[in-house]
Amino acid sequence: MRLDLHIHTTASDGSLSPGAVLEAAGSGGLDVIAVADHDTAAGSREAIRLSAGPVPLHVVPAIELSSTWRGREIHVLGYFIDLESEALRVHEERSIHLRSERMREMVDRLGHAGVEVAFEDVLDVAGPERSTLGRPHLARVLVRDGHAADVADAFDRFIGDGQAAFVPTDLLEPPEAARVITAAGGIAVWAHPPPDLLDELLPPLMEAGLRGLEVYRPFTPPDNVRRLEEVTRRRGLLRSGGSDWHAPGRGGNAIGDFHVTAEEVAELLEAGGL
Ligand code: AMP
Ligand code: ZN
Ligand code: FE
Ligand code: FE
Repeated sequence: MRLDLHIHTTASDGSLSPGAVLEAAGSGGLDVIAVADHDTAAGSREAIRLSAGPVPLHVVPAIELSSTWRGREIHVLGYFIDLESEALRVHEERSIHLRSERMREMVDRLGHAGVEVAFEDVLDVAGPERSTLGRPHLARVLVRDGHAADVADAFDRFIGDGQAAFVPTDLLEPPEAARVITAAGGIAVWAHPPPDLLDELLPPLMEAGLRGLEVYRPFTPPDNVRRLEEVTRRRGLLRSGGSDWHAPGRGGNAIGDFHVTAEEVAELLEAGGL
């Protein structure tokens, strides 16, 4: 069995619609996927609705919550969430609004740095299907308008964590993110945990209900994977994995280029009743 438990769609900052993701996952030989968009489950809802159709694929309900810790962005995945839960709806409503305000502020900051970008252009680039706005949308405008050579350059020079036009999401603190997911009936898993924050943040996150770590990702040095596996065993945590696919290029060129096996994530699937 081939699984990818971390894929983005046009509901947040991915380049493919939920329907196109399903098709690509089918062609890519995947059996199970999770659409985990930033602070919205709209893509997950749509993918699950469509998965009843001709592509025989299982879709795990999921989301990726944003939180901020000392000016850095910390992401917490929620798997097997109740897509109709009040806790989830409240977070989604709040995020759509606050991410939009935050985008206006980043656009303002760029202006102060002499880089003129129109907020409406960010909306255009994000497209009509988007539910939440994110930095990659802004990066694409910066590239299109010739202010940056490519998306990586836009992050490096303007909007990466700590850069001049970066504004933190400030939606939640990491433990609150784990609590929102738990309140929504989901399994909270720390996405791409930064190695230097593991020791400091794991205790408060676990106290708040965190149940796993994202261990398996593309382009991760084997030593890092082994270290994370070791941490999960020592602390009794579940293991997850996925490509974090947004667009061709990062996370592999096509959906399905990266996958995890049922053995690698067996305990997570079992905890979710799969
Ligand atoms: P946001 O949630 O709006 O802060 O945007 C976070 C997203 O920006 C991540 O999920 C990535 O898709 C993207 N991102 C963050 N840092 C970088 C970077 N240095 N280069 C390219 N993309 C990045
Ligand atoms: Zn993203
Ligand atoms: Fe993330
Ligand atoms: Fe992600």
